[in-house]
Amino acid sequence: MQDLIRKLLAELGEDPSREGLLDTPKRVEKALKFLTGGYGADIDQVLNGALFTVDYSEMVIVKNIDFYSLCEHHLLPFFGKCHVAYIPSTKVIGLSKIPRLVEVFSRRLQVQERLTSQIADTIRDKIAPIGVAVVMEATHLCMSMRGVEKQNSCAVTSAMAGAFRDNARTRMEFLELIKLGSALPTVREGVAHSMACVGDS
Ligand SMILES: [Zn+2]
Repeated sequence: MQDLIRKLLAELGEDPSREGLLDTPKRVEKALKFLTGGYGADIDQVLNGALFTVDYSEMVIVKNIDFYSLCEHHLLPFFGKCHVAYIPSTKVIGLSKIPRLVEVFSRRLQVQERLTSQIADTIRDKIAPIGVAVVMEATHLCMSMRGVEKQNSCAVTSAMAGAFRDNARTRMEFLELIKLGSALPTVREGVAHSMACVGDS
């Protein structure tokens, strides 16, 4: 990888042998391996027995989970907050495991829409809840740094299943609890407020 990064630096018009860049290939390799470390993670190992049988059927919410990911179209960061809710049927996931789950899927090359549904699908697969909802709000550097959108634009995506999809009151309760502010009206319709990383080259 380090050879490729030296080549990349030269292609950009840089001198890879100048002092400030000497260790850059090594640092970039290390950073990229860390940022894509989610590929090597085993979900069952991440959850590591933290699935518990309970007699509880109220909404469980973990909100404002910070996440950092890389857009697969530009290899530039997108980052923001993730809100996760589910209504258990027979099992719950240990609360601390939810941010871990978000992290595992974030540390891959992603589009925000897929990242959102992967988190929801995993929770559905693992504990078969009555409903699951995931909302992600993110800033995409491929948009803001390149001036594609206004600096403060934020892409919102949601994945709703079961009770959150079928029952408007359940969905509204969740959206009220995470207080999405201005993004709320569009999320209500269950569509992305703006497509993350619009498909230009
Ligand atoms: Zn992008």
